[in-house]
Amino acid sequence: MGKRTAIVTGSTSGIGKGVAEGLAAAGCNIVLNGFGDAKQIETQRAQLEKAHDVGVIYSGADLTDVAAIEGLFEETAKAFGGADIIVNNAGVQHVSPVEDFPVAKWDLIIALNLSAAFHTIRLAFPQMKKNGWGRVINIASAHALVASPFKSAYVAAKHGILGLTKTTALEGAQHGIRVNAICPGYVHTPLVDGQIDDTAKARGISREEVINNVLLAAQPTKEFVKVEDIAGLVTFLISDAANQVNGAALSIDGGWVAQ
Ligand code: NAD
Repeated sequence: MGKRTAIVTGSTSGIGKGVAEGLAAAGCNIVLNGFGDAKQIETQRAQLEKAHDVGVIYSGADLTDVAAIEGLFEETAKAFGGADIIVNNAGVQHVSPVEDFPVAKWDLIIALNLSAAFHTIRLAFPQMKKNGWGRVINIASAHALVASPFKSAYVAAKHGILGLTKTTALEGAQHGIRVNAICPGYVHTPLVDGQIDDTAKARGISREEVINNVLLAAQPTKEFVKVEDIAGLVTFLISDAANQVNGAALSIDGGWVAQ
């Protein structure tokens, strides 16, 4: 078989960027997606292509827009003939007590962190079934397994994505498709950095106190998870050694949810 093609949503920053790098290094063509500065994204795209001798395209599809997600798949089909691997990673966070939670933020988080994965999976499955091979990796969160206050939409969406993971894992099981979720603890990305300020405001404490007493308080190793650690787990999940890993929620959180 030729090169596999991977769509990595939200890969212009943080975890997705690292996962795209890891999959390119593993020999996959890459479809980058996400927002950001056009020049920087083109530099990222060209570097990835050059460093790993794979095809890399970029789609700026807004994953809260169903038609745009369909467009992303059309662009992928045109460039590479379709997607073999989907990493549903794009996500946003909003921290607020439930009674003040902006309704528009709730709708956005459910659309991006949950519904977008339903759309990519429904669009990817026909070809994966035809090929008898496919991998879907949903970047969930420790918050797919446990809650924290002030994150009602995020925790609801992340719990939801585990249900979607399990259901579609069963549907794909006899077609060579594997669907799994990765549940990271805190990774110091731009998403978490923004959250530090929001949490400080919501709880009336300093940034330092948020890092030590809120974020890493839950993480027994007292260390942030690295983007490269997540990329390594994704690379394992597309390998033959992971053939029987299906419908799983794989924690990578320094022991957070073991407590
Ligand atoms: P990030 O903010 O660094 O990156 C988010 C990416 O999503 C960016 O590329 C951004 O452009 C893209 N994006 C945002 N809105 C989009 C939209 N409407 N359409 C398409 N792309 C969009 O965030 P991150 O920390 O790398 O998080 C990535 C994923 O990992 C998220 O699903 C997040 O919930 C999950 N996660 C993060 C952590 C953490 O500690 N950072 C922990 C657990 C889970």
